[in-house]
Amino acid sequence: MLFLSHRFFIKDNCDELRLHAHKYDFDICFFHELSDFVAAVERDAGDSLYLIDLDALYNMQSDMLAARKTLLLGELLQRLPGDRRYVYLQSERQGGRFALQQRLVDSNCLAYAEKPIANDVLVDKLFNLFVQQKRADVVRVTMLGAPPGWDEAALRAQRLDVVYHADPQTLHLRVKDLRPDIVLITDEEYERTEAVVRVLKRNIEADPVREITLLQRRADPVQARRALDSGFDALLAMDDPDLLARQLLNRADKIRISRDLIGKDRATGLLNKIGLQQKTQSLICRALLEGKPLCLGVIDIDKFKTINDTWGHYFGDIVIKRLSLTLAARMDEADLLSRFGGEEFVVVFWDCTLEQGWRRLDAMRQAFGAAAFEVKPGDVRHFSFSGGLAAFPAYRSENELFLRADAMLYEAKEGGRNQIRPVPQPVAQTG
Ligand code: GH3
Ligand code: MG
Ligand code: MG
Repeated sequence: MLFLSHRFFIKDNCDELRLHAHKYDFDICFFHELSDFVAAVERDAGDSLYLIDLDALYNMQSDMLAARKTLLLGELLQRLPGDRRYVYLQSERQGGRFALQQRLVDSNCLAYAEKPIANDVLVDKLFNLFVQQKRADVVRVTMLGAPPGWDEAALRAQRLDVVYHADPQTLHLRVKDLRPDIVLITDEEYERTEAVVRVLKRNIEADPVREITLLQRRADPVQARRALDSGFDALLAMDDPDLLARQLLNRADKIRISRDLIGKDRATGLLNKIGLQQKTQSLICRALLEGKPLCLGVIDIDKFKTINDTWGHYFGDIVIKRLSLTLAARMDEADLLSRFGGEEFVVVFWDCTLEQGWRRLDAMRQAFGAAAFEVKPGDVRHFSFSGGLAAFPAYRSENELFLRADAMLYEAKEGGRNQIRPVPQPVAQTG
C-alpha cells in the first residue's frame, strides 16, 4: 500500500500502522511529498492500494501556496494519475461539508475513511478492500429466445455469461445443468409455451433465489399481469438492447453482493460453509462430466486454544486472517477455498489427485509454518496446522469427501500435528 501522509502527523503512528499491516501480510510505503507519491503510483503495477491523508496534504503544501484549502485539494486531485482509484482519509470537519465530500467521491474514489479512526480498524478495512478488489464472480444467465443484439463481448468482460436456448420444452433440463442466476424468456417464447415458468419453478430442486424475467418487445400490461401471475419475477423492456444490458449488469452486481452475504465469511472474504457446499456440488458435477479428479482437504490450526489464551482472541483472529492469505495465494482459479468454521478451512483442488493434493497442501503447511508472527516487538513466533485429504472419484459425494478428509485430519492430529494425512506411499521401484 502506498500512503501519502504528513511527516508530523504519522510520526507516532507509522510503526504501529506498519506492524498491523504486516500481521495481514501487506506492506505500507509512506510518502511525504506529492511528487514522490505520484511517481510511485505511476510506477506501480496497479495491485496496490493508494491512501491519501488530506489533512497532511494541507500542512505539506501550506508554505508553497498561500491559497485556499479547496484550491489545494483541486490541485492534488488533478495531479493524481487518473487511471487509478484512491482511498481518502478525511477529518470530521471535511466530512461535514457535503460539497467537499461530493468532490472526493467523484474523484477516482475507491473509498473514504473518516478520522479519527483507530490504526487497527483502518488496516482491517483496507484489508477488506484488498479482498474486494479481486476479480468478480461470474453471474450466469440462460436465455430462452434469440439474442437481443447486445454487445456480447462487453457482457463477458463484466463477468456475465449468457447461454441461449431455443426450445421451451427442454428449458428446465438446461437450467438444471447450467444452474443460472437469471433466466430470461422473450415474450414470443412465453406466448408459444405459456407453462414454461411454472415447469421451471415447481421443481423441488429449483433454486428459490433464481430470477426469472420476461423480456417484452413493447409494453403490454395485460401480458405483464398474466406473466407475473404465472411466476415471472420481473419484466424488462428489450426494445433497447443497450439499456437491457445495463440493467442486467446492475442486477448481476446485486446478485454478487447477496451471494457474498449468504455464502461468504465476513472476516476473511472466503466461502463459508453454505457457499462451499453449493460450489463443491457444482464442481463435483463438472468433474463427473469432464472425467476429472478432485481433492478436498480439511485444515485445522494446531493448539489454537493456547494461541487465544496466551495472546488474546484478537491476535487469534489475525492468525486466522494470515492463514487465509497464505492459502489464498496458493489457490488456482478453479479451486475452492472456504473458512469452514472458526480456525478450520476447507480447500478443494480442481483436476487434482490425492498425491498431487498432498503435495499442494503440504507446501501450504510449510509456507504457513514459515510465516513470522511478531507477538510483541522482538518476539517472533511460528504456528502450524494439520490437514486431512480425500479425493473424488474414490469418495463420490461432497458429504463422503468431507467425512473422509475429517477422519484423516483426526489421524494427523493423533500423529503429532503439523502434518497432512494420508501420506502418499512411495511408488514401488520395478526392475
Ligand atoms: P488442536 O490442535 O487439537 O486443533 O487444538 P486446538 O486448541 O486448536 O483445538 P480446537 O481446534 O478444538 O479449538 C479451536 C478453538 O478455536 C476453540 C475456539 O475458542 C477458538 N476459535 C474458534 N473460532 C475462533 C475465531 O473466530 N477467532 C478466535 N480467535 N478463536 C476462535
Ligand atoms: Mg478446530
Ligand atoms: Mg485447532
